[in-house]
Amino acid sequence: MEKKSFTITLDGPAASGKSTLGERLAESLDFMYLDTGVMYRAVTLAVLNKNVDVNDEGLVTKVAEEIDLDIHPATIDDGRSNDVILEQEDVTWEIRLPDVESNVSQVSAYKGVRVAMTKKQREIGNRGGIVMVGRDIGTVVLPDAEIKLYLDASVEERAKRRYLELINRGKQATYESVLDDLKRRDKIDSSRAIAPLRPAEDAIMIDSDHMNAEEVFQYIFKLVEEKKNLQV
Ligand code: C5P
Repeated sequence: MEKKSFTITLDGPAASGKSTLGERLAESLDFMYLDTGVMYRAVTLAVLNKNVDVNDEGLVTKVAEEIDLDIHPATIDDGRSNDVILEQEDVTWEIRLPDVESNVSQVSAYKGVRVAMTKKQREIGNRGGIVMVGRDIGTVVLPDAEIKLYLDASVEERAKRRYLELINRGKQATYESVLDDLKRRDKIDSSRAIAPLRPAEDAIMIDSDHMNAEEVFQYIFKLVEEKKNLQV
């Protein structure tokens, strides 16, 4: 019988393979999967749709506080892990557009935005039986989680993977532009004053530079099983 109160946090920089690992872990354990990045992306999309100036912290915060956002398991089989519904509209793919990508780190650095999103994430996370993925899940959102993971890889390796992913999806991109964008986001995410990207003190650190997705999954799944058995 699965212990449903069990919680796993998975943090790390952009394109480190968090969603691939998180989704597989959740599926193997029959847990819920929540990628919190989609929440910050949805707030950013709402800000852009409303023509709110991203530099206006007060107005951006108001958007985050009033957002009508629903995230639930995927109902369409097109590669998505969740449906992201903003103001009753399916924006699952829209939140991946370059405009959102280039503004999301600024929006998610605002205190009020983080407070609003952290509250929603805790409401979901405290039910247990979840793999929650993000930047500050082990440090701020769910610091009492049973297992905290931090997945890292060099920025060059991450850029290579993200570039190939985009090309395979038929998108236009250059390796250099992907690398520059990752460096820029890494810098903002790790240097912001509130909830910066960093591993929790008791996080299990995984450097995936020399491991493929399958190796990372097998390594972590074994660790999770061991830890779970210790807790029963
Ligand atoms: O993970 P993803 O790349 O989709 O996240 C988009 C952005 O959302 C990140 O670059 C970061 O600025 C923000 N984010 C965050 N805290 C989280 C998850 C994402 O600040 N827990």
